[in-house]
Amino acid sequence: KEGIPTHYVQEINDRDTFVKKVEIVPLEVIIRNVAAGHFTLRMGVPEGTEFKTPILEFSYKNDDLHDPFINHYYALALGLATQEEIDTITKYAFKINEVLKKILLDANIRLIDFKVEFGRLSDGTIILADEISPDTCRFWDATTGAHLDKDLFRRNLGGEADAYQEVMKRLLG
Ligand code: UDP
Repeated sequence: KEGIPTHYVQEINDRDTFVKKVEIVPLEVIIRNVAAGHFTLRMGVPEGTEFKTPILEFSYKNDDLHDPFINHYYALALGLATQEEIDTITKYAFKINEVLKKILLDANIRLIDFKVEFGRLSDGTIILADEISPDTCRFWDATTGAHLDKDLFRRNLGGEADAYQEVMKRLLG
């Protein structure tokens, strides 16, 4: 509805979804609105610092190398994506951020950061090809700042099942 083409076709049941077949672009595309996670370690900025403008970041999807941080020149030089694809991905990523921020704030949730991946259809069209969930985003309660995402698990804080259900309840009613 917001002009971002996605792989989504149809929900079959609680566990299975039909999606369009794509070739995944081997980039993890991260948008950050507020400092958290690896950013705080890399940049020495305290967690919770709100950025003047959102940050877009790329990692090279490669488990052996632990998804290293790269810039778009790396992606071009290594043939991971073309300039045109990077421009499209960048445009969609910022748009996704705007759309998600609004949907979430209506549910009293702050979107701190998230990761998405994109794919190519057989005709080369770039589409969003990823889940968007508390596993791949940082969600903080907009009033209390409580974590409503995978950081509860990563940091061994507990309560992740309740938090995930809380997010679902707020978004889906
Ligand atoms: N993220 C993800 N998969 C990854 C790496 C990061 O979904 O393999 C998400 C993560 O949930 C967060 C955002 O990307 O919302 C930024 O993550 P960061 O670089 O701070 O890494 P982290 O500290 O989460 O490992």
